[in-house]
Amino acid sequence: MEAITHNLVAVIIQIACYRYFLFPLNIIFTIFFAYLSHLLVDALSKLTYHTPDVKKDDKFWVIWHVIIYSASILSIIILIVPFWLGILFANIIDVWDWFILRPLQKKKVESGVDANWGQKWYLHKHSDWVRDKFFGWLPNWRYKYFGIINEIIIITTLSIIINVIL
Ligand SMILES: [Zn+2]
Repeated sequence: MEAITHNLVAVIIQIACYRYFLFPLNIIFTIFFAYLSHLLVDALSKLTYHTPDVKKDDKFWVIWHVIIYSASILSIIILIVPFWLGILFANIIDVWDWFILRPLQKKKVESGVDANWGQKWYLHKHSDWVRDKFFGWLPNWRYKYFGIINEIIIITTLSIIINVIL
């Protein structure tokens, strides 16, 4: 799923942890559950339109991503204070895999290192494991345009929950 979905789940986790646990458990549990939530949300992302590859020639893909990336950035701007801790740890797997490890791997491979360099450090292996182990029975709608409806329903539901519990 998209960053905004990870962010909204993180906000709910942080609200719950800060409401029901005292320092330092509120911080520890926020970090722990926010991290775990990424694995779960990603494991469920095959229910949403989520192509693993960039499809620049597909108008639908481009428009959807302009919208969803804008919404993701907006959600960070709105929620970063005071929910930065949850948001950080709910996205740290994406930050590490996509913005640190992948570019590093690309550089290494370009300089002649074995193409499999760094493969074992990808954290998304864990969400793949959760998906295959527990959610293998779910349909794969990753390439279905209607998958955006599922993501919109999830985002709307999470937003309502936040407004109710805030
Ligand atoms: Zn991810």
